[in-house]
Amino acid sequence: RGEPKYSGMVEDCCCDYETVNRLNEEVLHPSLQEIVKTPFFRYFKVKLWCDCPFWPDDGMCRLRDCSVCECPENEFPESFKKPGRLSLNDLVCQEGKPEAAVDRTLDSKAFRGWTVIDNPWTNDDETDNEEMTYVNLQLNPERYTGYTGPSARRIWDAVYSENCPKYPSEELCQEEKILYKLISGLHSSISVHIAADYLLDEATNLWGQNLSLMYDRVLKYPDRVRNLYFTFLFVLRAVTKAADYLEQAEYDTGNPIEDLKTQSLIKQLLYNPEFQAACPVPFDEAKLWKGQRGPELKQKIQHQFKNISALMDCVGCEKCRLWGKLQVLGLGTALKILFSDDGQENLGRMFGPNYLNHRK
Ligand code: FAD
Repeated sequence: RGEPKYSGMVEDCCCDYETVNRLNEEVLHPSLQEIVKTPFFRYFKVKLWCDCPFWPDDGMCRLRDCSVCECPENEFPESFKKPGRLSLNDLVCQEGKPEAAVDRTLDSKAFRGWTVIDNPWTNDDETDNEEMTYVNLQLNPERYTGYTGPSARRIWDAVYSENCPKYPSEELCQEEKILYKLISGLHSSISVHIAADYLLDEATNLWGQNLSLMYDRVLKYPDRVRNLYFTFLFVLRAVTKAADYLEQAEYDTGNPIEDLKTQSLIKQLLYNPEFQAACPVPFDEAKLWKGQRGPELKQKIQHQFKNISALMDCVGCEKCRLWGKLQVLGLGTALKILFSDDGQENLGRMFGPNYLNHRK
């Protein structure tokens, strides 16, 4: 389809496109496919009942477990039908569709004693309470859910227009551009997952790749592809920076054999010689926040990212909310690792000895 080739360095990063592709194919992707199956990484603890702080009047946020859609029409709350709100059609419940349903299958042993540590970049209060749900991510792949229309559009509009405006000129400084690129990269990733696992035929429940969607939403726009690579390298840099910590962390899920395997897979990923030789520092964060406006700018961007994190609670499709929250938490953790004042020295102190265990 004539999509542009990508060559040279990924913008603002320290590795080139070819190296990223090769490393991903040969080392990272195979390794990550194994890691995400381990008990420690396949379960995610999350508050899925949305508490949208931005448009509390919106019926979408009351669609817990799709209860609204399970009601017969005559039981549908009058207040949702008022003019000026989203119409009934907009409220078509994605959560009622099998592809949007969240399977909360829980291996209770996998959640022993995880602790909660605050992250200034994210909004989530992860304090243990009965609203937290345990989700097996292996049973809930990120894929097409049918979530679209005004509700989805409103989230993306709010993300971009209020919290990370597209940089129109060279006026924005690098730090502000980074926020935009991270979010755009995340958006590309979501679109790629939708295209890679799409419901091609509802009648026969046929799933497969939707290459034209992939082209129309991502490949047609070179900046969206570049931002996807940027986000990938940014997160990878956070992982390499936290390598010593990740190596020593306890992946304790109560299953010693599985947990040892997790630890060994993590080591293999972190200290893969090919990876270390080809792309030792995927992104150089040291040059940021140096200007006079540094501290003020960091506060502003932290606030914007926190807002984006809060917006995930307004996503009106439960499985999309699950993946939105997970990925924003991931980016927020990367931001914390790369941009905390403590710097590199003491991730243990920064996160607490069991930071990784925050999900349990
Ligand atoms: P959208 O993807 O909604 O894009 C809206 C506008 O944003 C575009 O018109 C364009 O101007 C701009 N834009 C698009 N991509 C980029 C980019 N990479 N960088 C910068 N600007 C861009 N749907 C699912 O089927 N499965 C999911 O798991 C899922 N998860 C979601 C998670 C979140 C947090 C949100 C907000 C939505 C999710 N959706 C999901 C919905 C999906 O993202 C789309 O909104 C929906 O498919 C409608 O797509 P669209 O073509 O209208 O464009």
